Amino acid sequence: VKRTSIILVALGVIALSLGIAAAWPATGFRGIGPAALNSAVALAALAIFGVFLPKRLSLPMQIFVAMVTGIAAGWLMNCAGELAFVTEYLGIFGKLFILLLKLVITPLIFVSIVCGVAGIGDVRKLGSLGAKTLAYYFFTTGIAVLIGLLLVNTIRPGVGRESLRADVEQRVDTDVADVDGSETAPKSLGLRIQEDMLPRIVQNPIMAGQNPLVIIFFAILLGAALASLGGEAEPATHVFRSLDKALIQLVLWIMVLAPIGVFALMAKAIAELGLGYIATLAKYCMTVLLGLGGHTAVLVLVLCPLLARVSPKRFLMGMLPALELAFSTSSSSATLPVTIDCATRRVGANENVSNFMLPIGATINMDGTALYAAVASLFIAQVYGVDLTLQAQLMVFLTAVLVSVGTAGIPGGSIALLPIILGSADIPIEGIGIIIGVDRFLDMCRTVVNVTGDSVGTVVVSRSEGLLGEPLD
Ligand code: ASP
Repeated sequence: VKRTSIILVALGVIALSLGIAAAWPATGFRGIGPAALNSAVALAALAIFGVFLPKRLSLPMQIFVAMVTGIAAGWLMNCAGELAFVTEYLGIFGKLFILLLKLVITPLIFVSIVCGVAGIGDVRKLGSLGAKTLAYYFFTTGIAVLIGLLLVNTIRPGVGRESLRADVEQRVDTDVADVDGSETAPKSLGLRIQEDMLPRIVQNPIMAGQNPLVIIFFAILLGAALASLGGEAEPATHVFRSLDKALIQLVLWIMVLAPIGVFALMAKAIAELGLGYIATLAKYCMTVLLGLGGHTAVLVLVLCPLLARVSPKRFLMGMLPALELAFSTSSSSATLPVTIDCATRRVGANENVSNFMLPIGATINMDGTALYAAVASLFIAQVYGVDLTLQAQLMVFLTAVLVSVGTAGIPGGSIALLPIILGSADIPIEGIGIIIGVDRFLDMCRTVVNVTGDSVGTVVVSRSEGLLGEPLD
């Protein structure tokens, strides 16, 4: 009891500081009311997710509660006019959580691939596993794009929506004005903590900023070399294995922050979503969601039971924490550490296969992104009245698959590459402005499908190698 009260007092001090800071921008103190409201929300969130729920609910349930209450809090604070508190101050917890996960990603990709490849042992076996991995990834990504193209050609969400073009042109003008405005406004303390302070401290000192493909390539070679040395390489292999365990342990520690981090991320996402856009673009959003749902059904209801003999329930229940994180972080790389843990411990995929396949999958296999990119491109073409020939649609198919391979597993990663698809089929690139308003929401959804695609892959390939186990948890 004494320990709990000390923790509660500490959380109270943190909440009060955040509440007062948010009510005290550079322009002066806004009054006791906002300070009290903000502090109360922060204290409630910290106490619920830091003290009360951990003892009563499992982690996936805690994250679920955090998602729902985060949405409610984001919306309510929006109505109360305390948006800055949500994005700038509550946002600190979301930012810290993502930075901590990212801290582990790069070493984890390296160590887990070395372990996976060394564990597979025989170089010929590695070749067949590599071929299976690539075949599965390209096959399923191809299906995803096909589903997307089929739906967008049937539903035709952009036909008759020419007025959207005018909307965008207008919006681009006001956005430019916004940017000009924010350049002169000083950053609040909360934003300075999120953008300047935390990233300087919570960053992997050795491998930050390294291209994952470079790391994957080197890790595969080193793993293969270790395997070929046999007994002589045993000490090194042991070191890598225990490092792998240590990194997973680190992830489990970081996951203690998951509920409060997810709460903050969801509240912030709701604040930034622009629900109004969703209504204007409802048909487009529905098309993307229908496609994502259809592809998930193919993966989980067909491939999983058919090829891996794993029931959809076992797969979904096991992967739940990873899928929740994918949704709330919009980042398949940030989710990777948890994806590996769920696939191996909670679903029963083989450790070596997962260690090899999942980091590669998080980098190159993005079914949701590919589907989304195809639908978005054709939607823009329809709005602009560009008639796409079969040949142009084939270009969209090919470039969508390629773009999904090149997309970084970060929030909004594919938006940067969308111009490649548009350019290849002569669709106006400015059209991206039309869909950008709803991108955040669709990003959350497609990231879930990206992670699902990777995980079904590791379960299917584990089975085909005769290595699928039982869940440990
Ligand atoms: N956010 C996605 C991911 O991390 C990438 C994207 O489509 O923007 O998987």
